Amino acid sequence: MSASPDSSTTPARNDFIRQIVREDLASGKHDAIRTRFPPEPNGYLHIGHAKAICLDFGLAQEFGGRCNLRLDDTNPAKEDPEYVRAIQDDVQWLGFEWNALRHASDYFEVFYLAAEKLIRQGDAYVDDLTADEVREYRGTLTEAGRPSPFRDRSVEENLDLFRRMRAGEFADGARTLRAKIDMASGNINLRDPALYRIKHVEHQNTGNAWPIYPMYDYAHSLSDAIEGITHSLCTLEFEDHRPLYDWCVEKVDLANSPELLAPLLAKGLPNEASRPRQIEFSRLNFNYLVMSKRKLLAMVNDGLVDGWDDPRMPTLQGIRRRGYTPGALRLMVDRVGISKQNSLLDISILEGALREDLDASAQRRMGVIDPLKVVITNLDEAHEESLTFPNHPKDESAGTRAVPFSRELWIEREDFEEVPPKGFKRLIPGGEVRLRGAGIFRCDEVIKDGERVVEIRGTLDPESRPGMAGADRKIKGTIHWVSARHAVPAEIRLYDRLFTVADPDNDEGGKSYRDYLNPESRRTVTGYVEPAAATATPESSFQFERTGYFVADRYDHTSQRPVFNRSVTLRDTWAAKA
Ligand code: ATP
Ligand code: MG
Repeated sequence: MSASPDSSTTPARNDFIRQIVREDLASGKHDAIRTRFPPEPNGYLHIGHAKAICLDFGLAQEFGGRCNLRLDDTNPAKEDPEYVRAIQDDVQWLGFEWNALRHASDYFEVFYLAAEKLIRQGDAYVDDLTADEVREYRGTLTEAGRPSPFRDRSVEENLDLFRRMRAGEFADGARTLRAKIDMASGNINLRDPALYRIKHVEHQNTGNAWPIYPMYDYAHSLSDAIEGITHSLCTLEFEDHRPLYDWCVEKVDLANSPELLAPLLAKGLPNEASRPRQIEFSRLNFNYLVMSKRKLLAMVNDGLVDGWDDPRMPTLQGIRRRGYTPGALRLMVDRVGISKQNSLLDISILEGALREDLDASAQRRMGVIDPLKVVITNLDEAHEESLTFPNHPKDESAGTRAVPFSRELWIEREDFEEVPPKGFKRLIPGGEVRLRGAGIFRCDEVIKDGERVVEIRGTLDPESRPGMAGADRKIKGTIHWVSARHAVPAEIRLYDRLFTVADPDNDEGGKSYRDYLNPESRRTVTGYVEPAAATATPESSFQFERTGYFVADRYDHTSQRPVFNRSVTLRDTWAAKA
C-alpha cells in the first residue's frame, strides 16, 4: 500500500524542463515526446537515480509520451547482468513501465557504420598515439592542443585501419578512432575526442563479437537519435559535452541516413531516428550519504556494509529493504523539484517524505523493543480476551484487527521509571498509566533483581475497561504493550544513519568516508510483536505505535521468525541532537 504524492501538498510541477516540453508540444515541434532513462549497468541504482527515473518516466506519463529504459553498456569491463536485472527491478518498483527495453549494444552495428560515414566525410581519423601522448597533445584549459601527426591520414588509409581495428588485428590501446573537430577549441571535449577504442573484452550482451567499443558521448548521442528521443535529460556534468553530443547527431544525421539503420531494421526494430535535444538538470545529493556507484562498490568490497542491498545503503535495493516506499521517493522528488542549481540537500527531506507517506499508508501495530514484564494481579491466570483496534487512526477503510490481551504483558522498559525525571508522564511506582485500548493500570509493586527492575505488578481499574463509564478518565500517559502469552519474539534491526557527519565525502585532511562510520548504524535486538504484525507478508510496513516505522524484512522475515527493520523513527532524533 503506497500513496501517491498528495496534490494538495505538492506544488504543481512546473520546472524549466516541463516548460520546454509544453512549448515544444504547443508549437508542434513534436507531436509526442520521447524520453529515456539510460543507466550504465556498472552498479546498483541509488537515490539520485530515482530523481532521473521520476523525471524521465514521469514526463512521458504526464505528457502522454514514451520512455525507454536503455542500458548504456559500452564499457564491458565494468558491467554485469546482475546489475541489469536489479536496474529493471528498481524501475518497476518505483512504479514505472518502459516503452522498450534497449541496450546501447543493440546499436553497435549502426555505430560502426556511422563511424565509417564520419571517416568518409573527413570527420574522423585513426590515431596511433598512445593514451599518454593523446593526453599530452590535448593541451590544457589555457593552452590549445596540438594536432596528432596522424590527423591528416587519407580517407582510404583511415577506412583500412578502422576496418582492421574492427577485425581485431591490433592490441588494446594501440589505436583509437577520433573525431576531427578542433584541437584549439576552448571546450576540451571538442579537441578531437575518441570515438572508438580497442578493447579485447567480452561484453555481457554481445560476447566476443567486438574488439572495439564506442566511447560514451558518441554512443549516447547516437542511441538517443536512433530511438527518436526528443528530450534527452541528463545531469549537469554533461553540459560541457553537449556540443559534442550535437556534433555527433548532426554529422551522422541518422534522421536522413536510412542506410545506416539497416542493421536495426534487420533486427525488427523500427526506424524512429530523430534529432534529440540534450537538457541538463542538477544532480540530487543528500548530506549524510555517499552517492557514487564507485564509492558504493568500494563500501561493499571493503565489507563496510553487508552488500548492495544492506538497508543502510542509499541504493534503491538498500532503501527498499530499509522500508522506503516508491510513494515516499516520488514525494521527495516532487518536493525537491528540478532545476540547474546543484546543492547538497538535508537528509531530513528524504526522511520526512518517508514519514509522511507511511503516516498515511502504514497500518498501526504494537511492538515492544526493550521488554519489561507487567503482571495484572486482579486478572485471573487464565484471563484472555480479544480487543478490537483500528488499523489506522485516520483511515477507517483500513479496518480493524484483534489484539489479544491477558494477565501478563510486555511494556517498553523506558516507559517505566523508578525515579522519574521531571515531566515524566508514564509509569512510576504507585502511579497510573493508560495501557493503549485496554484500561488504566496502577503500579503497586516493583520487583528487582539487584539494581535491575525485572517485573511490575499492579492492578487494572475495572471501571476503565473499554466501553465502561470510566474508560475516558483523564490520565497523563498512554503506553503500548503486547500480551506476553500471545506476542511473538521478533528480531528487530534498529538502523540509523551510516555516517556520523553531514559531509562524509569531503576528503579533507586525508580523511575519507571510512573515518566517519556510525558504529551505532545497526543494532539488533529481540523484541515482541503482536500476532497481527508477525503474520505480515515480507515488505509490509507498519507504524509500531510510539516507536517508529518498521518493515517486515524482504528476505528474512517469516511469521515463525519475524524480522523487522526500522525504516525511520517517528521524529527526527538527529535534529534534536544538533
Ligand atoms: P554515479 O556517478 O553515481 O556513479 P552515474 O551518473 O554514473 O552515477 P549513470 O548510470 O550514468 O550513473 O546514470 C543514469 C542516469 O541517471 C543519468 O542520466 C544520470 O545523469 C542520472 N543520475 C545519476 N546520478 C544522479 C543523481 N545523483 N541525481 C540525478 N540524476 C542522476
Ligand atoms: Mg556514469
